[in-house]
Amino acid sequence: MPYQYINAPELIGHWIDNEFHPGAGDQRKPVFDPALGKVARHVSLAARGDVDAAVASALAAQVKWGSLAVQRRARVLFKFRDLVERHTDELARLITREHGKTFPDAKGEVQRGLEVIEFACGIPQLLKGEHSDNVGGGISNWNQRMPLGVTAGITPFNFPVMVPMWMAPVAIACGNSFILKPSERDPSPSLFLAELFREAGLPAGVFNVIQGDKTAVDALLEHPDVQAVSFVGSTPIAKYIYETSAKHGKRSQALGGAKNHMVVMPDADLDQAADALIGAAYGSAGERCMAISVAVAVGDIADDLVAKVKARAEMGPIVTAEAKARIESYIASGVEEGATLVMDGRNFKVPGREDGYFLGATLFDDVKPDMKIYKEEIFGPVLTVVRVDTFAEAVQL
Ligand code: NAD
Repeated sequence: MPYQYINAPELIGHWIDNEFHPGAGDQRKPVFDPALGKVARHVSLAARGDVDAAVASALAAQVKWGSLAVQRRARVLFKFRDLVERHTDELARLITREHGKTFPDAKGEVQRGLEVIEFACGIPQLLKGEHSDNVGGGISNWNQRMPLGVTAGITPFNFPVMVPMWMAPVAIACGNSFILKPSERDPSPSLFLAELFREAGLPAGVFNVIQGDKTAVDALLEHPDVQAVSFVGSTPIAKYIYETSAKHGKRSQALGGAKNHMVVMPDADLDQAADALIGAAYGSAGERCMAISVAVAVGDIADDLVAKVKARAEMGPIVTAEAKARIESYIASGVEEGATLVMDGRNFKVPGREDGYFLGATLFDDVKPDMKIYKEEIFGPVLTVVRVDTFAEAVQL
């Protein structure tokens, strides 16, 4: 059967009961092609009614799905794994088109998602309970893992396939139904994943997708039939999700942003360290939660390290013009606060894609811990170098 969402449609809508739904509301948001810097399509922003419909479908489907023998649920996951693997290139193309990361990087993302699907295939073993014999006079204890019901996942733009795959396969294998609210900045892969789930034999309603923004998220967080919420994204929103979920009696896990440091010791192999920094700081245009954004140079190696990092990395565009402007404002603030701008990625142009949201690799030296570029997550291709004398100072930063 030909897939309908192997290519992104003009209007990216919701997925409820194994079918596409354009959405009841008339709210739309543009989705950009970041390499060309133009609007490529639009995404529907769910109204509360859309969320209610998705939850009702998920609630109805979960009862039967959750009572199915665990091996039978795992078999659907095995088929899904196979389909995702077979369609790695198509998924990667959807990622590249809307996120902007390079095609090999996007394929790597799909591979990471596959690894979690593989983990979920082992669910019959993972769900085993325990039995403790004769813990009191004539009393034995046993525990059993049971599905919660309707669960939801709210995911960030920077891994539109991998992060949803951290959540959905495991929740579904456990017998829950799952509602995905992907990032509105790169929503297309969610529909193709939904189509692959359907092809794998997942019953209608077990995996639903709701597109949207805060309205959709709030409707999920407040809905009495949603039992658990998993979130990955920026730290302020993670705190909001955690607090709001708890307020509404839900289980919640909320993963936020990061400011990762790499300490470079005076006896390090500086070529190796510089190579590692190029990949870790500038790969995926720095739009990774695990990107290294601070290199802490210990002792007298900073000049050599900075000279070696002064190289170019293959880089995709930033996800939106808004995100690019935000990163540029961090670069301006670094200059204002007195850091040394060694490489300036502003005004970086890719021939033939002059309107794309590109930024070149940017490198700051002499960064101090009280500067904004040190304290905040920039989430772009900006590496900062902090100079310290000793390892003890490095670990105290
Ligand atoms: P974000 O927090 O802006 O958005 C994440 C999700 O929350 C999206 O689905 C978005 O629609 C929704 N959202 C945004 N604003 C909201 C609001 N006010 N109320 C309710 N929901 C809202 O994050 P992003 O820019 O899409 O992703 C990048 C961030 O994610 C970075 O900070 C990065 O470090 C982090 N991240 C963390 C991990 C991790 O494993 N800890 C992994 C990937 C990304």
